[in-house]
Amino acid sequence: MSDTLLEIKDLKVHFPIRNDSLFGGVENYVKAVDGVSFHIEKGETLGLVGESGSGKTTIGRSILRAIEPTGGKVTFNVDDESIDLSQLSDKEMRKFRKHLQLIFQDPYSSLNPRMTVRDIIAEPLVAQKLAKGKEVDERVQEAAALCKLNVEFLRRFPHAFSGGQRQRIGIARALVSNPQFIVCDESVSALDVSIQAEILNLLMDLQEKLGFTYLFIAHDLSVVAHISKRVAVMYLGQFVELAPTKSLFHAPKHPYTEALMSAIPEVNPDIAMTPVELKGEIPSPINPPSGCRFHTRCTYTQDICKIKEPVWKEVEPGHFASCHFVDTLNLQGVEMSSPAKSPLTGKN
Ligand code: SF4
Repeated sequence: MSDTLLEIKDLKVHFPIRNDSLFGGVENYVKAVDGVSFHIEKGETLGLVGESGSGKTTIGRSILRAIEPTGGKVTFNVDDESIDLSQLSDKEMRKFRKHLQLIFQDPYSSLNPRMTVRDIIAEPLVAQKLAKGKEVDERVQEAAALCKLNVEFLRRFPHAFSGGQRQRIGIARALVSNPQFIVCDESVSALDVSIQAEILNLLMDLQEKLGFTYLFIAHDLSVVAHISKRVAVMYLGQFVELAPTKSLFHAPKHPYTEALMSAIPEVNPDIAMTPVELKGEIPSPINPPSGCRFHTRCTYTQDICKIKEPVWKEVEPGHFASCHFVDTLNLQGVEMSSPAKSPLTGKN
């Protein structure tokens, strides 16, 4: 039996831009995700990092089929079966959803203010008909206890809680259906640093206890490093680097990764780097730059970068990057005993 839970091949999500004519013809496409391939092992956390507009959230939602992919294949290995999600009917997909969950970014807007905490956590069980009657309450209480929520809280409404407690409610809702795979979409970004640490520790504890597999999406590389076994760096709809976390931090192979790393605040003297300039804003995904998409902002750009697209290459075992000069650039890394030992959580 394979250890791979999820396999993505050549995933594309292109959103049509329609013109103002009577028939609303398509005049162009926003290429939010443009040919991305990767896998996630069972029980692993894969971090996905990049600036706003890089396509990270679209990847997460298209895996969950909350957004319909334009092309490519998403395969899950669940219950000794390989399931190609694109082949599932709507009814089959509804049934399959119990294996998939999402933890949202905003703990304020993601909880319905008119529902009690008990009803919010119970929602996936009721909507997917996974339990009824007394069993619903038992499973809600079990999920709340796992997320260190007092049973008294279940009768209250979300407005009575702080951001961290609300995020615990969101996590309890995600785990109550006992999913195999959870997308954490900027799940700690809206929280204070001390609360971020609590939530990251909770997610790691739950993974250890229950074996969850996470795709952890964030724009902050230092947060991703805490929780992830491997990290993928995304730029303008494509992956530019994918590597084990330690390898990515010690010896990044793509200039964009180096620039993101150099922007990490120097909370820990071990992670201080000479700043690398990231020129301007991320370009539009409607008309991405020719050649290497990063060439308009890269410190190391040469003529070939403007005309030829670099290939996705395995530079070391498990370490992939796409840059013409991947073998010759000597990029700055971070000398940390363990990149996952975090100024946030203090955990290895
Ligand atoms: Fe920079 Fe050129 Fe490498 Fe792209 S291919 S990352 S522009 S050096």
